[in-house]
Amino acid sequence: MNDGARLMIDLDALAANYRLLAAQVAPAHCAGVVKADGYGLGAEAVARTLIAHGCCHLFVALLGEAEALIPQLSDPAVPVYVLNGLMPGSEGACARIGAIPVLNSLDQIVRWKAQADTHGDVLPAILQLDTGMSRMGLPQDELDAVLARPELLDGISLRYLISHLACADDPADPANAMQAQRFRAIAAHFPGVPAALDNSGGAFLPRGHFDLVRAGIALYGGAPGPGDNPMRAVVALEARITQVRNIPAGTGVGYGMTFHAPHAMRLATVPVGYADGWPRSLGNRGAGYIGGIRAPIVGRVSMDSIILDVTDVPERLLKPGDPVELIGPHQTLDQVAHDAGTISYEILTQLSARYERRYLPAAQAPAIQNLQRSAAS
Ligand SMILES: *Cc1c(COP(=O)(O)O)cnc(C)c1O
Repeated sequence: MNDGARLMIDLDALAANYRLLAAQVAPAHCAGVVKADGYGLGAEAVARTLIAHGCCHLFVALLGEAEALIPQLSDPAVPVYVLNGLMPGSEGACARIGAIPVLNSLDQIVRWKAQADTHGDVLPAILQLDTGMSRMGLPQDELDAVLARPELLDGISLRYLISHLACADDPADPANAMQAQRFRAIAAHFPGVPAALDNSGGAFLPRGHFDLVRAGIALYGGAPGPGDNPMRAVVALEARITQVRNIPAGTGVGYGMTFHAPHAMRLATVPVGYADGWPRSLGNRGAGYIGGIRAPIVGRVSMDSIILDVTDVPERLLKPGDPVELIGPHQTLDQVAHDAGTISYEILTQLSARYERRYLPAAQAPAIQNLQRSAAS
């Protein structure tokens, strides 16, 4: 645990973002995508909050994520869908825990049907179609095979047809309309099966949203597209000053001495580094904020620390232990991602297990209640 930093997760903001998205996509429903441990924020706390605000569909990426999440759900009737589908040999485990696979290939269909046939059951599934991203879902030839032999799906109860947009974060990209048109054409072959195409970005495209939207990053406060971000910030990252020093002009700073002080400077060392998920690409680029004043990162990002130029910060704010904002009102998640040359998704999912995750309001935080319970026992 890093006692020099903490991550605050605002579950009220998460709930507000869910309500905004649900209203935005209505009459379609809004599902919560909680893969990668709820984009790093804690899948259990996120799922409980979403369910409490009316969410009744959850998506994870991996069967193992479903296995961890399902027993923690406040409403066991909420389905958990597995986006990556079925690895060979995992059909039995998937059926046993009651996760619903997204079938991405003919091979996965055949194996899920065999699982159903063996037990004389009908098993639920989502069918994913590739409409242009070339990543997951049935390609055209496999779709043709299924349409020619509908009995391939006997024993499988299709809950949704889905596809995924490659360019939804850019509303001007013509691929969005192309994919939606292909998806509509394919869905016409499956009358009565509800359809889902949009992610966070797709939710803000100016058209209808089929029956279900799979929202991830926007729930967690990341911008769903260009322009003003309509979502509330969910994550705040605060670190504490380890030590402060004054250096004369010409002094080298950090590994490789990639920075030399152009004039006498005051520096603060802050105990967050790339092992905490603070990207190394922020060396000599990013910043922290102290008392609302920008303190640029000087030198490289180390494994366990960064060095800030605090020359312009009043001395009374620079005692050991004093707070430094790394993600917060002065420096948004999207700004950090931009400075690091990456996307908000990567910043969130790299936030390491070193951070204490503090949920606000605490009353809604099952992770912390569990901690207290185990501490008391
Ligand atoms: C991750 C993912 C989502 C969520 O995407 P966001 O851009 O975070 O809203 C939706 N659908 C699929 C298939 C995904 O892999």
